[in-house]
Amino acid sequence: MPGGSPKQPEPTSDGWSPRTEASLWLGLGLLGVGVVWFTVRAIEIDRSLDAASRQLASAGPPDAPPAPAPDAGAEPHLALAWTVGAPGEPAEPLASVRRAAEELLARRLPHGLRRGAVIRAVAEAATAPKEPRILALDVRAAGQPEARFYRFDGNATGRLVDEEGREPMPNPWQAPLATLRRTSPFNPKRMHPILHRVRPHEGTDYGAPSGTPVYAALEGSVSWVGPHGGHGKWVAIQHDNGVETGYAHLSRFAAGLKRGDHVATHQLVGYVGSTGRSTGPHLHFSASRNGVYFDAETLLATPLRELPADRRDAFRAEKGELDRELDDIGAPLPAAPRPGRGDEPASPANDSESQPHAAASGARRQRR
Ligand SMILES: [Zn+2]
Repeated sequence: MPGGSPKQPEPTSDGWSPRTEASLWLGLGLLGVGVVWFTVRAIEIDRSLDAASRQLASAGPPDAPPAPAPDAGAEPHLALAWTVGAPGEPAEPLASVRRAAEELLARRLPHGLRRGAVIRAVAEAATAPKEPRILALDVRAAGQPEARFYRFDGNATGRLVDEEGREPMPNPWQAPLATLRRTSPFNPKRMHPILHRVRPHEGTDYGAPSGTPVYAALEGSVSWVGPHGGHGKWVAIQHDNGVETGYAHLSRFAAGLKRGDHVATHQLVGYVGSTGRSTGPHLHFSASRNGVYFDAETLLATPLRELPADRRDAFRAEKGELDRELDDIGAPLPAAPRPGRGDEPASPANDSESQPHAAASGARRQRR
């Protein structure tokens, strides 16, 4: 609008309009409030620190000698390294650390924990009957990137977080075996080694000794128990979410299991075997929806939760300390097996069709 607003206030002698002056006073006022708030916060923080140190100082029975400095009183951490599957078991509490670490990693690593993997662990030295608490893990397996996991308090699930501070969220699906050692992946375009044409591998093969318990990956209704062509002794379970899982090549079924039974998640359904088209004991685990097979491993993949932004600095500080402790751990004793072969499963076994060398030696085995 030309000429401007007639209500524009006149400039004062020092050139500031009354409005500018009002803004200045308002700004000063806010600044004052800010200073007071900051001072009060600082005093509060100071007080809570005071209270914390008093609490530390007064820890322990009244008649006890003066409490040691917090650092001197902390239990030293257990630190150890070992090779998965190497002979020999250490004394307690190291044996418990090894068991707990291997259990954690078997669940946590995308393809399970393999023989020959080298693990370094830092744990809290707890006195019996309390189990040692794993604080940090480092795992190296041939052909796989080094992975580290850390205990970080105050996260959602209390599980170990990865190097980015991500923690696994609960997954209703559970592994069909206590230890997953994948020997052959789902592959819709697998080339048949003898027929030289595409013959899909409709499940995931996990090597395991004959007789290893096989569990329902999720609760559901048993849709098949019995012989089923190349699957050999087969169990299938129909789940409420429309997915059907299959468990093939079993040596035998769980006692009394029959079609129509309701099974709970992780309920025993059978035992690993080599029935049907199979070259050795393993579990062929499959998943389908409306009769179409998809990669059953995707069911077992764990969703990861990102670390909230306001916890990242605290995590980096704790991670730094645990990294130093992991870095200080030497090589495992006894020495790791020869590299290259060490991470191979003890007895690799797949469906006969997935054996790449079957073309040379497997013709006899292939006959049905
Ligand atoms: Zn298979």
